[in-house]
Amino acid sequence: MIDIYFKIHSHKALQFDDNFKVVNNFIEKRIQYFFPSAKIYFNKDVPLEKKSIIVELLNINPLFDEKAIKSCCEKITSENAGNFLFAGAVPGTAPQKIYLSSEKDKPTQCINLKTQNKFNTQLNLFKLKRQKHFLSFLREDDSFYKKTLNDFFSYMESENGKDLFFRLGESVDLIIEGKCPSCESNNTEELFLNRSHSLNGFIPKSVSLYTQCIDCNMVFMNRSFRKEDISKIYDDYLNEISLHKIQEKSIHQIEESHMFFKGLDLVIKHLPNTPTVADLGCGSGEFITFASQKIGNGQFFGLDFHIDNEKKTSLEEKGIKLKMGSLLENLEGLEKVDLVTSWEVIEHLHVSDLKELLPRVMKKISHGGYFIFSTPDFDNPVCQLFDFWAACPIQHLTVLSESWLDRFLETKNIKVAHKFHGNRMLRNDSWAKYALETAPNPEEKSTAQFFCNVLKNDDSRSKFIESIEEAGLGSEIIYILEK
Ligand SMILES: [Zn+2]
Repeated sequence: MIDIYFKIHSHKALQFDDNFKVVNNFIEKRIQYFFPSAKIYFNKDVPLEKKSIIVELLNINPLFDEKAIKSCCEKITSENAGNFLFAGAVPGTAPQKIYLSSEKDKPTQCINLKTQNKFNTQLNLFKLKRQKHFLSFLREDDSFYKKTLNDFFSYMESENGKDLFFRLGESVDLIIEGKCPSCESNNTEELFLNRSHSLNGFIPKSVSLYTQCIDCNMVFMNRSFRKEDISKIYDDYLNEISLHKIQEKSIHQIEESHMFFKGLDLVIKHLPNTPTVADLGCGSGEFITFASQKIGNGQFFGLDFHIDNEKKTSLEEKGIKLKMGSLLENLEGLEKVDLVTSWEVIEHLHVSDLKELLPRVMKKISHGGYFIFSTPDFDNPVCQLFDFWAACPIQHLTVLSESWLDRFLETKNIKVAHKFHGNRMLRNDSWAKYALETAPNPEEKSTAQFFCNVLKNDDSRSKFIESIEEAGLGSEIIYILEK
């Protein structure tokens, strides 16, 4: 065998919390275990004194496919030639390239690993929540680096692996849902992901994250955090602001087709001159900032479990009042509110809290005031596209639907003033591009390609969204309730 050199490149995303230290150490041990004679170079050029095989890896991909690397190195050795790239791999498992040092600049050949078709998941550490999961695997098992890629997936299929994943590495006891948390029916069916995978990654397609109640259509997570532990989910790893800061990314534009714009536009003329507005689950303050700019005079409150410190200062400078902690308790503390909004929040609540929240918010609203909320609509074909509905397990305890919400609001005698669909996923081409890069099969790849083409151009995108929304198609359903 020709000598093997691993060249490891650093990725910015691992600067968060200095995680590159732990991850680089893991990579080093894993290479030494599977390739004992290989030499490892972090962020520097490999000395090319004699003919050798170079394996280039990114350090955000620590769970590299050791079997694919071995067989590629054997091929280069036996043919004494080669310059290879990889396709069809579970994202985060393929090396960047492998080549014989003397053939570095020769044309490349592509090896199709077909592992994504088998597992359909995501193992790179580009998302902070995946870093959090990965660190928990290392804490749980000192010899984690010895796992082959297949060993890793078998572990994720085991009860211990699933438990660790659903716990996000926190030391908590989970609720294991046996029956529907809404209607208590046992008539349920486990759901599996075949089009894309969740942002949390790691879970192969053989493992179910959510179950659907056949009787009431509630979709709920198979294991979830207890109420008293929920705040443990919402640390800096779970909000992508920290990652955006590293990447110097800015908040996206709110266009006229955006659900914030449409929702506010429908009620703004009916609000008093100086209204009180409260946004439940304000996150980075995107909506409440937008509302304060559009409305002008009034009182604006942002309520959330946790607000990033830097964000907090900049929102307070804009005159927005912030309250951290329990949403309902903080809402209770306010005087009458003319407009309460809650964008993509109710799916984060336990069913019992959700059932309590809607009537309590209605009670807090002044006469003639409004409550606007949005949530992914499981029933809608756009929500099924790229398995968007399952994008955020652990945080999203349920996936609701228009049919479930209509029935629930009717039982509470809450009047729906208006409802419409929004398309957060299609506001730019980033989801479609991601699906194109990580599709498990050619059929999904071609669907993603189609969406990339339609969405990349501003003009075709806005026409497309306008026409599908007219037809009631959207990843989110937005309700406007009037008091
Ligand atoms: Zn049910």
